[in-house]
Amino acid sequence: MSALVLKSVHKAYGKIQALNGLDLEIPKGVVCGLVGPNGAGKTTTFGVVGGYVRADSGSISLLGQGPFDPAIHRGRVALLPQDCELNPHMPVRESLEFLARLQGMDRKSAVADTDRVLELVDLRDRAQMKIRQLSHGMRRRVSVAQAFLGSPELVLLDEPTAGLDPDQVMRLRTLFLSQKGKCTLVISSHVLAELEQSCDYVVRMEAGRCVQAGDMDQVTQRRSMVRVQVQGDVQAAAELLAAFEPRVQGEEIILRCPVGVAPETLNAQVLPILLANEVKLLQIRTGESLEAALLK
Ligand code: ATP
Repeated sequence: MSALVLKSVHKAYGKIQALNGLDLEIPKGVVCGLVGPNGAGKTTTFGVVGGYVRADSGSISLLGQGPFDPAIHRGRVALLPQDCELNPHMPVRESLEFLARLQGMDRKSAVADTDRVLELVDLRDRAQMKIRQLSHGMRRRVSVAQAFLGSPELVLLDEPTAGLDPDQVMRLRTLFLSQKGKCTLVISSHVLAELEQSCDYVVRMEAGRCVQAGDMDQVTQRRSMVRVQVQGDVQAAAELLAAFEPRVQGEEIILRCPVGVAPETLNAQVLPILLANEVKLLQIRTGESLEAALLK
């Protein structure tokens, strides 16, 4: 089943067509990266999914149960808006407990769940501090924490890692990876290298439409293509592998995995030939970067 289905959704702000017949389907249980240039309509998509931006036409279904309805989706769908601001005067713990209570949790569950999500974003030691006393990155992590209160089935995060230092980005990546299969996570971001590592599904939007969607493995070809970078005469090295129909690109030999053959199996056949012929290997990679894949 799909966690999220949008069919032919239109949304205009005056003359600007933010969503222009958006068709989108995100499978249940994936960590999905939502990418696209500035103004592609990603934030508007989150708005119509979260129910705070009204679509002009089209249909939206969350968890197979229609458009966002608090009676059905409260506690099951969570959203972190792009410019989420928590009350700066409230302590972190109080703020999260308050939001947990709003979801309908009793006091004891709200306290326990606040502890759990603070642990998820590694901020237990800041629980008593006021939001305004935190750095930008820490505030962002508290906002991410609130999205995971109550263990929702569908979580949408609009640029959750914007402005975070590399260490914090890595911590959030670990959190996102840990959610694989537990919930459906949709992460919008411009940092493609980051999404490549965190996500197993990717959707690309342009001008209010979905222009590409699929498994990360398929889009980046990381289970179907091997790239061997060699030092010296790359053509001569490629000729040694003629039986595998190689292609040369710069210093690299590009090999396609035959149907049903995994990259590691292909490597086991190819690399001994190269090594036996004293080809100097610099790097062996699978597929291409998400950036390269999307730029094509
Ligand atoms: P970014 O990557 O820059 O965050 P985005 O993909 O999230 O962009 P949106 O914020 O959804 O894109 O914007 C889509 C289009 O809708 C843009 O042309 C934007 O100018 C327009 N738009 C968004 N919100 C409003 C608004 N409240 N009023 C008028 N136009 C808007």
